[in-house]
Amino acid sequence: MQNHCAVPNCPSGKSDPQPLFRFPSDAERSKKWVEKCQRQDLIDKSPGHLSRYYRVCGKHFGPSLIDTLHYKCK
Ligand SMILES: [Zn+2]
Repeated sequence: MQNHCAVPNCPSGKSDPQPLFRFPSDAERSKKWVEKCQRQDLIDKSPGHLSRYYRVCGKHFGPSLIDTLHYKCK
């Protein structure tokens, strides 16, 4: 499991900490997240794999893509 954002060159860092969100296990929503990440290597990964191993920080998402706090990582 990664403890940092999956988005390349993510601007969030120690000086601007962001909450990390687990990828949704829902296939449709997971696909949207991958598109947001712009990571070609994640496209063929299963939602289950993404959900288990990847995180994206709150900087890249509006509230509509995050089910409130359900996917928030502690
Ligand atoms: Zn990020």
